[in-house]
Amino acid sequence: MPSAARRDWSRGRIWFKPPPSGLRERRKCSILSQAVTEKSSQLVHFDATRPVDKRPLFGLDAEALSACMTEIGEPAWRGRQLAEAMYRQRVAELPEISTLSKSLRQRLAAEGWEVGRPEIVQVFQSVDGTERYLVQCHSGDDQTGAPGGRSIAAGVETVETVWMPEGDGGESGDGSEPDGSESDPGEADTREMSRAPSFPRFSAERVGKHKSQSSPAQVDPAPEKSWSRATICVSSQVGCAVNCHFCLTGKLGLQRNLSAGEIAGQVIAVFERHGVEVGRDRVNLVFMGMGEPFLNYDNFMAAVRLLVREVGLSPQRMTVSTSGIVPGIERFAQEPDEVRPKLAISLNAPNDEIRGEIMPINRKWPIEAVMDAVRQVRLRSRERITFEYVLLGGVTDKAEHAAEVARLVRRTGLPAKVNLIAWNSGPGIEYTTPQPAAVENFRLTLANAGIPTYLRKPRGRDIFAACGQLKRTVEG
Ligand code: SF4
Repeated sequence: MPSAARRDWSRGRIWFKPPPSGLRERRKCSILSQAVTEKSSQLVHFDATRPVDKRPLFGLDAEALSACMTEIGEPAWRGRQLAEAMYRQRVAELPEISTLSKSLRQRLAAEGWEVGRPEIVQVFQSVDGTERYLVQCHSGDDQTGAPGGRSIAAGVETVETVWMPEGDGGESGDGSEPDGSESDPGEADTREMSRAPSFPRFSAERVGKHKSQSSPAQVDPAPEKSWSRATICVSSQVGCAVNCHFCLTGKLGLQRNLSAGEIAGQVIAVFERHGVEVGRDRVNLVFMGMGEPFLNYDNFMAAVRLLVREVGLSPQRMTVSTSGIVPGIERFAQEPDEVRPKLAISLNAPNDEIRGEIMPINRKWPIEAVMDAVRQVRLRSRERITFEYVLLGGVTDKAEHAAEVARLVRRTGLPAKVNLIAWNSGPGIEYTTPQPAAVENFRLTLANAGIPTYLRKPRGRDIFAACGQLKRTVEG
């Protein structure tokens, strides 16, 4: 930890003395210890001492489950059966895994094992069809009893996951449509512009009740299946320490990392709710919910491997967004194509000066360092790097900013696209939503520079499900 910093242990943040550039004094800097030291062992876990009496099987891959079975004297293929039941058939309770003998199920239960899949306990429904979920990670995650034990003890907490039927436009132009088609950027953007940004209204119906750990959640069923494609926004941490100043999640500080099972389990819980048929339905995953995935790298990638190898999803239907954690990007560049999602960089500003003002992480890894790391990623045919850009009224949405972003993106030499996001307002954050005219001018400048540019639809603003709004907002 730099000598200029002192730790606010109660909130999982580090405070820095004022930097010499004249930035505001005693600004909260959310670079957590891993970002400073790059040693994951220094991550802060507030609930690591919580006693754990249950051991979740969910989160272990077929290989680990097979090793588990071998250890207790069962044939290894029993592990494959367990994986098939949990990840393909989506069985959520041990007694319901009918491919295992009753005696084996009883024995596993007696030893403290359970499926332990995260569970949707509350649903907020938007007028636009978006659903925001509170997902309860209701099992301890001390899988140290299993071969290759994964993670630290976890608490009983909820994280947020969002379901967007028909997507939000962010997936456009990434070259991954199954029929090889891509919508025309200009056409898509014109369509999106007709959906002018609006301020959030708490008009959503609150369904279901947050139940205690011991009682199963009762939530209203999903609406009848009427979507042709969908996007699921997945969380990777409880809270976030990166503290982008425009983001509600950043206000929470880091509570803890999610385990691989807790990350992948959000997806399976939503699949189950909406009857998603893997291999048939067009569902994209974006790891853009609560948290910075690359500050929970091992668990994040373990979740991706589960989703690819055990669930059967394509990594080309997944996109991970990072605020610019350079060591994480460098590791990511080494991942094999078979399990590597697409990469999005949360850029949000045209230069280091402004980016440093709104994203303190930029002081650790400025834009050029991020771009150097991104260049190490070997892109697939037709794959593009996505630059996410949140437009803050009067701060990052000016004409000169657009021209600077265009130059910046072209200078990278990368096949790239830009996703514009009109900032979603949230309580306690002082930025303003950009004017539609400013958004359109920004888009036009990039498009005229030959950069595919999309405007992400403001999905679920009325239930605080939109980008940067996830904060376990349960007041309804
Ligand atoms: S925008 Fe992402 S990285 Fe930044 S504080 Fe919010 S959740 Fe964390």
